[in-house]
Amino acid sequence: MQDFHSIITGQQTFFETNQTKEVRFRKEQLKKLLKVLRENEQQLTDAAWKDLHKSNFETFATELGLVYGEIKEAIRKVKRWSKPKRVITNLANLPGCSMIYPEPYGNTLIIGAWNYPYLLTLGPLIGAMAAGNTIILKPSELTPTCSTTLTKILNEAFDPGYFKVIEGGVAETQSLLQEQFDYIFFTGSTQIGKIIYKAAAENLTPVTLELGGKSPCIIDRDAALKVAAKRIAWGKFINAGQTCNAPDYLLVHHSIKDWFLEYIKAYIISFYGNDPKQSPDYPRIVNRSNFERLKNLIDSDKVYCGGETDESELYIAPTILDNVTWNDPIMEDEIFGPVLPVLTFEDFFETVKVLKQKPKPLALYYFGRNKGRHKMILNELSFGSGAINDTVMQITNSRLPFGGVGNSGIGTYHGKVGFATFSHHKSVLKQVTWIDIPLKYAPYNKLKLNVVKKVL
Ligand code: NAD
Repeated sequence: MQDFHSIITGQQTFFETNQTKEVRFRKEQLKKLLKVLRENEQQLTDAAWKDLHKSNFETFATELGLVYGEIKEAIRKVKRWSKPKRVITNLANLPGCSMIYPEPYGNTLIIGAWNYPYLLTLGPLIGAMAAGNTIILKPSELTPTCSTTLTKILNEAFDPGYFKVIEGGVAETQSLLQEQFDYIFFTGSTQIGKIIYKAAAENLTPVTLELGGKSPCIIDRDAALKVAAKRIAWGKFINAGQTCNAPDYLLVHHSIKDWFLEYIKAYIISFYGNDPKQSPDYPRIVNRSNFERLKNLIDSDKVYCGGETDESELYIAPTILDNVTWNDPIMEDEIFGPVLPVLTFEDFFETVKVLKQKPKPLALYYFGRNKGRHKMILNELSFGSGAINDTVMQITNSRLPFGGVGNSGIGTYHGKVGFATFSHHKSVLKQVTWIDIPLKYAPYNKLKLNVVKKVL
């Protein structure tokens, strides 16, 4: 195993030079990042094909394209984001002035997940760079070609004292966690998120935890059924369901279920053909253990469509399971694959009550036209992010903070919020010396107390 301690000490020394605090330096690094990614785009997309059978289109549209957009935004705006901000000073501190200075935390660690091997590593990296930190990036070992390609490209381009990619699995991550960082950004499962949180607590290191969970998707009786079916089929089966904020399961109003399932099935065929295994656009399951796990979740008695698997290719067809109940094994944990259980409901209000009892999901989707019900969903239910009449697309707007809540995570990022996540906001009162109001000093008296009561 590499000597992580000396790499991190090197980064601490680099940070102390204050180079990363210059906006010019940050912009240069972001520009370099954009350049090397673009120059190596083919290699990166080939790697995603090798690891996940992910098409060039998907790798660009759901990963690199979004990353390029965020880098360009950061280059344009980092100067504005990093400027100290003056805020209104309260009466007690007049005539001083109150300032907020965004400053980098220092040495940061980013741990990525495999399902979007570029978006989930480079996305947080942009925020960390824009905010002026040094960075250790640990991609997931489960997509080894993507991890190795990213490591080679980035480690050749960047000074390791400033930014270094370290490959590895559990042992390497555990070893990295023994080191002292100023910020840890983790994307992965809730279970491993708890391990990261515990390790960070040892040093009181602040964290962002981007985790998972079971994200519900409600289709109400007045939903625009065809468009709902199309958007759900896309959001569920893109990346073969291995999307953290994909709809995990459907709650469909019983009166429209039969039509709705017909439509979804038709869209699966229109996207991937009658045999999705032959489609160049349909990805594979990341590894054997996930394949086995997913295969075991398919209850053959409940298959509405799909259900075919091929172990030699780690292929699982887009699968819909009908007549599922809350007690079925598939409703226990996040599915994270191309299997879509369908439950029905009769009473919308009861359904909201049931969802309220569940752990807060990473995402929630509602399809229906009734504004009152939109309001109720937003008012009653807590979830990381979501959409009304769409799925997954909220993630593409860098102005919308992305992250979970409760069991699905801590903290958010993307765009300006990503910059803020990787910055400490240092608050400073700048006071004058030509006047010193005696009110706060002892000895106290009734008059002073009355004035303080008025001022506060
Ligand atoms: P994971 O938790 O198994 O692994 C994530 C990272 O943690 C990897 O880099 C891995 O090397 C490391 N890791 C694994 N076991 C570890 C251990 N014992 N100690 C220290 N580090 C360890 O998650 P995954 O399988 O890569 O991703 C799937 C999960 O991630 C799903 O739950 C999904 O919902 C979630 N996810 C969330 C988001 C989000 O943005 N919120 C995005 C993608 C995936």
